[in-house]
Amino acid sequence: MKILLADLAHTASVDDASLTVPLNIGFIKAYLEQQHGRAVDVRLFKHPERLLEAAATERPQILGFSNYGWNDKLNHAVGRYLREKLPDTLIVAGGPNIDPDPARRRAFLERHSYIDLLIVDGGEEPMAELVEWWGGGRDYDRLPPNLVWLDGDRVRATGERPLSKAIRDIPSAYLGGGLDEFLARGMIPMFETNRGCPFRCTFCAWGMASKDLVRRFDLDMALEDIAYVSARSRSRNWIFCDANFGILKRDVEIAQAIREARERTGFPFKCHIWLAKNVTERNLEIGAILGDMTVPVMAVQSLDDQVLANIKRDNISTDTYVEYQKKFHAQGSRTYSDLIVPLPAETLESHLAGLRSLFAFGVDIIQNHNMRLLAGAETNSTETRERFGFRTRYRLIHGDAGAYRAPDGTVLRCFEYEESLRETATMSEADLFYLRKLHFLVDFAWNIEVYRPLLKALLSYGVNPVDALQRFLETAESSGGPLAAFFADFDRRSREEWFDSAEAIEARFAEPREFQRLLDQEFEKLNILFSVIALKDYKRDFDRAMKRVAQSFGAVPRAVLDPIAALSFAAFPPLGSTKRERVVEAPANLAALSPETAAGFAPDREPRAYRFVEGPRRAELRRLIASAQSRTLSKILNTQGITLRDLRCTVAEDMAHDGGFRRAV
Ligand code: SF4
Repeated sequence: MKILLADLAHTASVDDASLTVPLNIGFIKAYLEQQHGRAVDVRLFKHPERLLEAAATERPQILGFSNYGWNDKLNHAVGRYLREKLPDTLIVAGGPNIDPDPARRRAFLERHSYIDLLIVDGGEEPMAELVEWWGGGRDYDRLPPNLVWLDGDRVRATGERPLSKAIRDIPSAYLGGGLDEFLARGMIPMFETNRGCPFRCTFCAWGMASKDLVRRFDLDMALEDIAYVSARSRSRNWIFCDANFGILKRDVEIAQAIREARERTGFPFKCHIWLAKNVTERNLEIGAILGDMTVPVMAVQSLDDQVLANIKRDNISTDTYVEYQKKFHAQGSRTYSDLIVPLPAETLESHLAGLRSLFAFGVDIIQNHNMRLLAGAETNSTETRERFGFRTRYRLIHGDAGAYRAPDGTVLRCFEYEESLRETATMSEADLFYLRKLHFLVDFAWNIEVYRPLLKALLSYGVNPVDALQRFLETAESSGGPLAAFFADFDRRSREEWFDSAEAIEARFAEPREFQRLLDQEFEKLNILFSVIALKDYKRDFDRAMKRVAQSFGAVPRAVLDPIAALSFAAFPPLGSTKRERVVEAPANLAALSPETAAGFAPDREPRAYRFVEGPRRAELRRLIASAQSRTLSKILNTQGITLRDLRCTVAEDMAHDGGFRRAV
């Protein structure tokens, strides 16, 4: 039986190095081959055009799509086209973004009318049983468990199979060679050592779908996968899909295996993991093992008790959180947290209070996300929408668009978009537009670190960076100068992103000229786009304004603020600057600040001079930015473990003015 499985991605906007290995369908292939041996011929696809070509020549008996928020419309375009071409093929789909309530399921199946059967909660066993069913009598009353389909206008479903804690039967997706072709093409390896999440955050589909279980694969298999991939991949980034890495004791051993792979081969540079939500000493141990390969994520989403109750989330106590921040810092790790706006009952003030707290806790990377409504999550239900007064709008998912040609010349044009929350009973869309600008500044000044030393100096003298950035924004917008124009442009672009309905966004990009703009990547993520614009065209204006704002609080003595500002500015010169080095004298009084405050500038009792030069990472990133036309920069950065922070100049080791200083910052 010929079976084609597709985990499609928009390959028009990125090359293979920015795509992930299709681990999900790799598991299904391995399981099908284990169960049916040579009776099945299973091929996997990531590229839409390759699938279209194979479907035309091989005419499979079964075609399977894995469906996610980032390929829903792509599957829709390819699936509808293939439905017509392959009327006798069984088309199935699976994936986590399926709502539990029948009305939403029916809407999904009506929209994706090319799907014969939908698989819920894990695809391996249902697919293997479907092979027998399809090869047998095809009696709908004898369908295996975990299937949903439309029977006229009625949604029908088979029962759910019980889940066990140990996943014993599913073999490795890697060890049988099923994913070799994707590793050979340089795609990003993904690993899954357990499935599910014991928490039930209402905005997330993962905990809901997993029925509270953390189901584990065999440890030996996880270790062998790491060794296997390490011997075949030179990808700079690996991703571990476990929802709570560190929740199991054995995760320490897995972290050690990742570190050993890096020591042995030099790869990967970065390893993306999501640490267990309720941090333990084990997370610290894992952080210490992986060191600079990872940034420990300690997500909070909100720090307001009522909001947390509304989203059924239980963060660790503030004291414990701060204690772990310190411990991570003591072992040299940078830390990461995130907030989502607007969550149910969050207000502008409560969000700003949460943001202030994260700065005060010393979190190194603070990400702010607009609340997206995910199919399969409780927040997507009609009841939650009504209860908290949700109003939603639609916007593009950046970089996920393409025009794909089938062998008969038909061109399938499609793009992805998301439904996000733009208003609740307690937060207005005007608040969100304001926050979009403020969050840009958090990202630019703090996360990328363009003004981090200055903000840290303010923090140590009692001024929270949120207050400084709010004042910066206020002053810039009322200045009438270049920065007012910069933020007016940002605000205009931020408002233009949103559409009132799915139909409105579809209609806009049905226009050939508008669709071409999509393909040309004219709709880049605003934070990345405007960070690059700020560094290229407005850096001196930003520097001057940032220093004036820092001075305006009257909190930091000039003797401290001036050199810290000079160090900050020299570390991030304008993008186009051709000056080869910058030397900044730092007086002894910087030693009055704690090492943490001086943000890596190694305060000393003696006066110091720092020579900033362009390091290899800045040079590489500047080249990447210059050549990013028609490629989505944000996607390349995200998937390659590169951030705009890499634009920071390094301090030359041979210090022109002080040979004693040897530390690169
Ligand atoms: S947000 Fe994280 S902790 Fe919460 S349910 Fe989802 S995966 Fe689990």
